Amino acid sequence: MKTKLIIEKSIKGHMGTSIPKLDVPEQTLNTIIPEQFLRTDTPNLPEVSEPEVVRHYVDLSTKNHHVDKDLYPLGSCTMKYNPKINDWTASAVAGVHPYQPEELSQGILGVYYDLEQQLCAITGMKGFTLQPAAGSQGELVGVLLMRKYHELKGNDHKKIMLIPDAAHGTNPASVAMAGYQVVEVKSNSKGLVDLVDFKSKINDRVAGFMLTNPNTLGLFEENISQLAELIHGIDGLMYMDGANMNAMLGIARPGDLGFDITHLNLHKTFSTPHGGGGPGSGPIGVTDKLLAYLPRPRVEILGGSYHLNYDFPNSIGRVHGFYGNFGIMIRAWTYIRMLGPDGLRNISKVAITNANYLMHKLKDVFELAYDRTCMHEFVLSAQAQKEKGVSALQIAKRLLDYGFHSPTMYFPLIVKEALMIEPTESENKETMDRFIEVMKKIAEEVDSNPELLLNAPHNTPVGRVDETYANRNLNVRW
Ligand SMILES: *Cc1c(COP(=O)(O)O)cnc(C)c1O
Repeated sequence: MKTKLIIEKSIKGHMGTSIPKLDVPEQTLNTIIPEQFLRTDTPNLPEVSEPEVVRHYVDLSTKNHHVDKDLYPLGSCTMKYNPKINDWTASAVAGVHPYQPEELSQGILGVYYDLEQQLCAITGMKGFTLQPAAGSQGELVGVLLMRKYHELKGNDHKKIMLIPDAAHGTNPASVAMAGYQVVEVKSNSKGLVDLVDFKSKINDRVAGFMLTNPNTLGLFEENISQLAELIHGIDGLMYMDGANMNAMLGIARPGDLGFDITHLNLHKTFSTPHGGGGPGSGPIGVTDKLLAYLPRPRVEILGGSYHLNYDFPNSIGRVHGFYGNFGIMIRAWTYIRMLGPDGLRNISKVAITNANYLMHKLKDVFELAYDRTCMHEFVLSAQAQKEKGVSALQIAKRLLDYGFHSPTMYFPLIVKEALMIEPTESENKETMDRFIEVMKKIAEEVDSNPELLLNAPHNTPVGRVDETYANRNLNVRW
């Protein structure tokens, strides 16, 4: 049945709120608002009772797939369960005003300070900025920090950033935005950075190296210390894209591995509802050599109280209003504090175990691109199915019919018909077994009834959409 718009549910005289009685002297509107701004007709707003509003939105929420409904194995996005206590703490402090003076914001400043300390402990970095509003903005800030470093050292000849072909797509984009030229490094047959190719691209013009780790094949890079030595040997800087840190918490730290800069995605690794465009938080951590360039202000303790220090003459400046996306930080801080060091380590152990379990159960049905122990995710190839006439896209669409979100498709680019799967640590064996059954069933359907897949999904409120048309004729209003 077609979903009604809320305006179509309107019944004259129905109310969802009660407005308090006037307790100030009555004035006519045109004494306050100039005549030309007064409306002449009544606005066409829906008149609905509170239960009707609640039902409307609950109904809408069930039409879309979300992680509170079922498994959401969207590789690299870490669509894990978001504990409700995070929302409780975030809403408890939502009334804090960003212009409140420091004396009245000690609690919040204390949370920022403590969160930065926790992130330093988790990553082995010396300092963090919480300002960037997304992983990709964090990358941009990280590369701007590199640029500042090279500027102050007179390294004007350094114009190149090395990036592996298995990097997350935002990496080359951020590098280009910061004014560097991207030079791609090939992956070897194991799915890791090809050392021979890497060495051939090392020269004095290289400003740094940006590595997604684990890489987008879900594999941990094996030669990081050697790569770091080569990069540091030409006064370059090492950047780790740590968006998928749920594979490494309490196990390995970018700071110890030889990286100078890393970003984290609070809205992946440290929970927070995301997808659909935000809000997010992509803090940047750095070692000693880059501390002075971090965005300002920075939270510090002075005479026993917290305060915002703006006095960093070499800072790259502010990258977000106030101090970043506050609500996300509160959620991440709650999550980290609730779990503690052992809980965080356990997250990564379970994330890795879950991904390997799924990978082993599915590799007989779909081709496994790189058959090695994976970290938080793995990449299947539907190339064999494609040869029978059913693409990765059609498999992904068919999954929706069975009540699961699809994996990430066609990424990384180095795998044909890629299906990148990340179960996350919050799924239990029973859920993963249901997913395995469905994937096997779909693989059978490819042989027995390919038509079914070509027009899938069949059971969702919206069927197959014309994505090309949507992209060319973007309309985000109804
Ligand atoms: C998600 C992700 C990003 C980008 O993060 P956003 O917050 O979506 O901008 C960057 N790198 C990797 C590896 C990611 O998984």
